[in-house]
Order: sequence, then structure tokens, then C-alpha cells
Amino acid sequence: MDISFHGADRDVTGSCHLLQCAGKKILIDCGMFQGGRELAEENSRPFGFEPSEIDFLLLTHAHLDHCGRIPLLVKRGFQGEIITTSATVELARLVMLDAAGLQEEEARYQQRKARRHGGNLKAAEPLYTVLDALNCLDCFGRKASQGQAMELAPGIRVTFFNAGHILGSSSLLLELEEKGSRRRVLFSGDLGYGGRAILRDPEPPPHADVVIMESTYGNRLHKQLEPSIEELYTAINETMDRGGNVIIPTFALERAQEILYYLREGVERGHINRYTTVFLDSPMAISATEIFERHPECYDPDTLKISHDGDNPFSLPGLHFTRETAESMAINQIDRGAVIMAGSGMCTGGRVRHHLKHNLWRPESSVVFVGYAARGTLARRIIDGAETVRIFGEEIPVRAQIYTIGGFSAHTDQAGLVAWHRHTGNPDITYLVHGEEDSMNALAGLLAHTRVIMPEPDQAFEL
Ligand code: ZN
Repeated sequence: MDISFHGADRDVTGSCHLLQCAGKKILIDCGMFQGGRELAEENSRPFGFEPSEIDFLLLTHAHLDHCGRIPLLVKRGFQGEIITTSATVELARLVMLDAAGLQEEEARYQQRKARRHGGNLKAAEPLYTVLDALNCLDCFGRKASQGQAMELAPGIRVTFFNAGHILGSSSLLLELEEKGSRRRVLFSGDLGYGGRAILRDPEPPPHADVVIMESTYGNRLHKQLEPSIEELYTAINETMDRGGNVIIPTFALERAQEILYYLREGVERGHINRYTTVFLDSPMAISATEIFERHPECYDPDTLKISHDGDNPFSLPGLHFTRETAESMAINQIDRGAVIMAGSGMCTGGRVRHHLKHNLWRPESSVVFVGYAARGTLARRIIDGAETVRIFGEEIPVRAQIYTIGGFSAHTDQAGLVAWHRHTGNPDITYLVHGEEDSMNALAGLLAHTRVIMPEPDQAFEL
């Protein structure tokens, strides 16, 4: 019985861990390394194991940094079974197809450039294509029901249970037996926290001998959620009074649906005008919202009640889905009274850049950031107070009101991680993954009654 680590090691992206037990090889997640072009190389290098030898892939959730290398895994010979929840299957399909499309587009751009300047055409090939992403869907087999143990092979049982992070997200308990010795191995996946909209609260984890846990916010405590929702309503109302538009750069998965949910609630409770015009201007967010509507089994009691009462938790009277490019462009003609949600969340691409171009220079408009903005991104430059920013080759002055609302997060914070770990009993070993070193060190100092290891890439351990 052993475990090896092939991504998200002292880093937050590229999650991929390999278990070996009773003659079977089981992969937990196969995510993409994200954060810049230099990482293309990291994604395309060998996995650190032979894909054709893997029997099962257990997928915790559909974020790109957990599922993004699956099409590549299949392209390189994986023929095993992928097991996850039915909501995750649908979301992962959307996420992988979108990633493949973006890679093809980027490759075409790089190849045109290479042709012009006589560069290396081979280097400009996509990691995988849309066809590869479609092919890997054939490997998705049995659907996991949360809370129900599943036998993968003699001596290997897995139970998925709700992690409360995004729709369908799960932690995994593996009960392993080999040559008379038994181990309970627990993978946290990414962890959410209780009291958020839409999703059921994460389940307290069972006891385990070995724990592999995320540590994204191991050194941080989150702001409260309620004041953040109030801030969102205030930003909208102030902007409407000034006669401008509100631009909300939005991540397509979870955050977009959360914001729709809070806007609906704001209308219901009279905090914002019932007829506020809201555009969800992102084909991917629209598709993700439709997937949310199909999975009430993931809802918390409040969301479930809305749904049972015949209402749609993600809809409000003034909401428009604008999937087509022409519809998106038509929004540019509106100079007041609109709330425009568009991707990408960090403004690194996508339709939001057009809306910023049309609104950022107008003091009556506003930009409301509701998510994480990495260093070096357009979102971060605006948040940090840039006086002008470059969009589509044009220098645009930043005169709009900028709101940064910090209380929305899909990840739990330090206190939540420590509380989660306490529920696992007294594990012999805890491996920290999915975190930067500062964050891991802070969390490691707070975990009692366990030995903590922060694995290096491709490091292996006996269980
Ligand atoms: Zn995640």
C-alpha cells in the first residue's frame, strides 16, 4: 500500500495523487497546473506514472485544477474507469470542453505567429483538443452517490461525501486492505464551509488513519458572509442612483450562481429594485447555471424549498441570459441601470473586458469584484488602484467606483480546516497539499495529534 503525489504539492493547482493497493492503481484527481503560460510545460510533461496502468480515477470535483488533465490522461493511454458524482460529471464535461477550446484557440494563435517568424510549430500544439475532451467522456463510468460505499475491487472501498465546495464536490474515504493490514485513507478534496447559499453544508469527516488535506487558506480567516451580501446590494443601489452600470467580473462555476441567488434574494426581500436588469453574459456561466438547475440533490434546505415551491433559485424578473455574441454586443448600447455579470473572473480574457472598456472610464458606473484576483491580472491592477489600464490596445482611465467584496469564497478558512481535521480523530499522518508554503506551515502548526508531511512533487510514501 502506498501513495505518491503528482500535483498540488506545495502549490495550489494540478491536484493529482496516486494510491496503490491490492494490485490496483487508483488516481485521485488529475488537474491542470494553472497560473501562466510557463505552466504549459508543466502540464505537458510526463505524469510521473504510466496512464495505461491506472485502474480507477476518482474525481473530487469539477474545478479545472482537479479535472483539467483528464483528456490528456486518456490521450496518453488511460483506459480505466472514472468515478464521481453525477453533478461533477456534467460540470467536468463543461470545464474540460471549455479548456480544450481555449487551448485550440491559443495554439492557432501561436502557430500563426510561428509561421510568420519561422518558429517551432510543434511547440505550439494544444495540450489536448476538443475531440480529446469528448473522447475522455467515454471513461466516465459508475456514478457515486454521496454517503454510499462502493467496492472498487476486493480490499478497496470508496465512499464519497459532501465537501460543500462546489456543486457535486466530495471528500473521499478509501477503506483499504492488503495482506491482512487495513488502512482508512481520507482525501479532503477542496473544502467549503457551512452557511453558504445553495449547497448543503459539508459533512463532518469520518475517522481515518491517513489524511490528505487541502490547505489553500491555512493562514487566513475569512470575512463574514452577511456583510458581504449587504455590500453587494449597496454597490448596486448606489450605482443605480448615479445612473451607471454595475460590472461584476464573475467566475462561471459556483460564484455566478451564488451571485444570482443573492440577487434573487435581494429582490425578494426588497433590498434591490425588483426590475433591475441583470445580464448573465457568459455562455459557460449560463451552461453551468442550467446544470445547477438539474441537481437539486446538492441543494441546502433553503434552496430546495425555493425549488419545491416551483421557483427557480437562480432567476429574477429582470434577468437575461446572453449566450450569443450579438446579444453581448448589444449590451454596449445600455449606459445605465444594468448589472452585467461576465467572465473571466480575473478579467484576463472573455467578454468582461468589453464591458470594462465601455464602463471603466465612467464615474457613474462601478466594478464589483467578488472573487480572488491573482497578481499580474487586470482585475488585480484595478483593485490595486491603477489610474489607467490597457484594454484591447487602448489606455482606459479608471474612473468607475471599485468595490472589492471579500466575503465570498468556495474554500473554508484556517478555522474551518482545523475544525475539519479535528473530526478525523488522531490520524497517524496528515499530508498537506493544495496550498502555498506559508499557508501550509501556518496550518501544520495548528494540527495536533498527527505527524504532518508536505510532500514534494512525485514523492512516494508507504501507507
Ligand atoms: Zn476547487
